[in-house]
Order: sequence, then C-alpha cells, then structure tokens
Amino acid sequence: MDERRQFAVGVIGLGGLGSATAYWLARRGVDVVGFEQFELGHVRGASHDHSRIIRRSYHTTGYVELTAGAYDAWESIERDADEMLITRTGGVDLFPADAAIDPAPYRSSLDSAGVAYEWIDAAEIRRRWPAFDRGTVVGPDVMGIASPDTGIVPAGHGTATMQRLAAEHGAHLRPNSPVRAVRPVDGEVDVVTDAGVVRCGAVVICADAWTNRLIEPLGHRVSMAVTREQVTYFPTDDLDDLRPGRFPVWIWMHDPSFYGFPTYGPGEVADCTKASEDCGGAEVDPDTRTFEPDPDMERRLGRFMGDLLGDRFGAPRSTTCLYTLTADRDFVVDRLPDHPNVCVGLGAAHGFKFASWFGRTLADLVTGHPAPPELAPFAIDRPGLQRPIRRQDWLV
Ligand SMILES: Cc1cc2nc3c(=O)[nH]c(=O)nc-3n(C[C@H](O)[C@H](O)[C@H](O)COP(=O)(O)OP(=O)(O)OC[C@H]3O[C@@H](n4cnc5c(N)ncnc54)[C@H](O)[C@@H]3O)c2cc1C
Repeated sequence: MDERRQFAVGVIGLGGLGSATAYWLARRGVDVVGFEQFELGHVRGASHDHSRIIRRSYHTTGYVELTAGAYDAWESIERDADEMLITRTGGVDLFPADAAIDPAPYRSSLDSAGVAYEWIDAAEIRRRWPAFDRGTVVGPDVMGIASPDTGIVPAGHGTATMQRLAAEHGAHLRPNSPVRAVRPVDGEVDVVTDAGVVRCGAVVICADAWTNRLIEPLGHRVSMAVTREQVTYFPTDDLDDLRPGRFPVWIWMHDPSFYGFPTYGPGEVADCTKASEDCGGAEVDPDTRTFEPDPDMERRLGRFMGDLLGDRFGAPRSTTCLYTLTADRDFVVDRLPDHPNVCVGLGAAHGFKFASWFGRTLADLVTGHPAPPELAPFAIDRPGLQRPIRRQDWLV
C-alpha cells in the first residue's frame, strides 16, 4: 500500500450530511474523497424522498439560533447552484390544551432568539388556513405557533445538488464503496475499503444509522436507536386549499406527533399532501430491515388526516426511511477526543434542514478550526449520550 497521503480529507457516507461536507470542503479547495456504500441517491438511509421541513421554531434557544445558520448555509448553496432550494410556505405548530409537547419552551426560545412568530387561537388558525376548518382536530382548545419562515427543502434533490456541486468543485465521490474500517495511524487515517486502503489526513464520518459500526472499533459508541419510519402521500382532487400559500407546514405537538406539508414535489406526488408520524416506527437493523410500509402506522395516520382535513383522500402511498435517534435526540458534531482528525456528524432524525450547516461546520472542524461554543451541546462524549434509550426523550 502507498503510505503517502492520498487525500487531505475522506468523508464517509454521502447522504445529506456527508454530501454537504464534501461540497463545503471541495468549494474551499480541499482535496476530498467521499465514500458511499450504496449508489448515490439510494433509498436505504435518511435523505431520500421529496421534502423535509425547515423551520426556526425549536424547543431550545440554542437550536433556534442555529437555524439562522441552517438557512444561511442552504442559501449559500442556492447561490452556487443558481437554484431556489428553500420553499417558504409558513408553518404552524399545533398545541391542544393537554399537549404532550409543551409550547412554553418553544415560545421562550423564539422570544429570546428574537425570531418572529405569532401565538394564535383555533379561530385564527382556521381563518388563515381553511383546510383545517374541514376537520375536527383543530378544536377550540388548540393554539398555534405560526412561523413565517417555515418551509420545505428538497431531500433527494438537495442531496443530489450538493453531490453535483461537490464534484464540480473537484471532490472525488466513490459510490458503491463501503468503508470497512477507519484506522488512525501516524497522525493520519487509513480508510479501509474493498478496493484497498486510502490514506487521508483526516476523516469525517456521516454514516447516520451505521455510525457505531465505524466508531466502536475506535472505542466510542453513541447511545442511539435506528427506527424505520414512513412518509405517506394522500392523493385528492380536492386540493386547492392544500397548496403552498393557502396551507402551511404543520406539526401536531402531541403524542403521537404527526406532521405534514402543503402540496409539493414532482408529477407523481403533485396531487397529494404528504404527512408522517414522528417516532412512530419500530427499531430495526439498517441492513436487514424491510422496505414494506407498516399498515398500522398508515391507518393511524390516515385516521388523523381525515380528522384534521376532512374525508377527501384516495388510497395513500407510503415509503419508508430511517431515523437515527440519539438518546437525547440532540446532534453529534464533534471530533473524537482521542482522535481529533476523526470527526462525526449525526443529525438525530432532525438534521436535513441543517444539512448544509453540518457540511460547513464539519468542514471547519476537520480542517482544524476551533469548535465554536454553540457546538458544546453536541459533544460525542456528553452524558446525554451515555444514558439508555427512552422514547419520551424524543418527544420534542
Ligand atoms: C421520514 C423522515 C422524515 C424526516 N423529516 C425531517 C424534516 O422534516 N426535517 C429535518 O430537518 N430532518 C428530517 N428528517 C431527518 C433527516 O432526514 C436526517 O437527519 C438526515 O437526512 C440525515 O442525513 P445523513 O446524511 O446523516 O444520513 P443518510 O442520508 O442516511 O446518509 C448516511 C450515509 O452513509 C452511508 N454509509 C453508512 N456506513 C457507510 C460505510 N461504512 N461506508 C460507506 N458509506 C456508508 C449510508 O449508505 C448513507 O448513504 C427526517 C428523516 C426521516 C427518515
């Protein structure tokens, strides 16, 4: 094997986070190679399908403040791609009187970060978005956080755009190249693949559901669970009041928690509104899990959609996707304490809106920039990641 360094940085995993990291490194002229175990654009991980929510409303001031960077980092890619990627639709977080998710931390976090929102009642919600007037869920006790900045970023297309731009800036992307091991050696890192060992100055691991497989041999483990989630498209001819501008991104802040979108996406889903349940799926092994949608989840969501928007939908179509839920549902954005040239990025099943921010931040970390204070809550060895998994910790 050639001992000389072949690349400055190796990125392992080319989903949304890894593709963004390769993009930001290449854009800065860093010699970067990216490894993906499957084909680019595959549907086995967490970054496929048409849409993901981007929002500023979060349960901590830290996250609310970070969302400014999330929008800014996507806008930077928009300029480079000369294409709009963020579709601002407006959003409403819906809280029944006995909501399992408390609105107070959301409101105080938005207030202390100085981010605009309105706290509106059910009558106002129905007046603004008449589609809710056709159901029963938004009853008189429901209040909402209305956020003008909330919108949609394209999952599969966004990831592909970052891969295209990364390659245009000189990144070497290697699909169908599973990394078998990461071995720090002499201040550098050997990346072991079936095609041979690639010596890099440093690596970034953005392997989501597969993260522990790569870091456990290095003496690290993140307390996390991988669940098989699904998104469902509800077709209807009656969708005028479900279009962007007339219908928001919405989140039902209760248990179970559901969320949904106005019509969005290419031809085959253009006549649908999409929705899903947060953390409704079973824990799975990412390599042996089935791709068959869960009929009970689909029925549960279908009932809710009928109650929310009225009985107007045809047969739903679902597709599955993986959540990687850290024990405290917070991100990991850090260097390994004992291997500072090995960085890890984990989106904790709410990372796509931050994908470009993750890329920019991990590119900073792996090229030696000091970690800014706002990353402290995302340390890989924090106590929250040593504790056992409890589902209620994910309800945020
Ligand atoms: C149904 C659903 C809805 C969601 N909704 C939202 C939302 O509205 N807003 C939001 O912000 N987030 C949302 N998320 C979360 C978000 O999609 C994820 O946090 C994000 O996509 C994670 O990106 P990733 O690149 O880390 O993971 P992935 O896209 O899974 O990428 C990891 C990649 O690493 C590769 N890999 C792993 N091991 C190896 C190896 N050894 N060698 C080579 N390659 C390897 C995998 O094949 C994979 O391609 C949602 C997720 C799901 C599933």
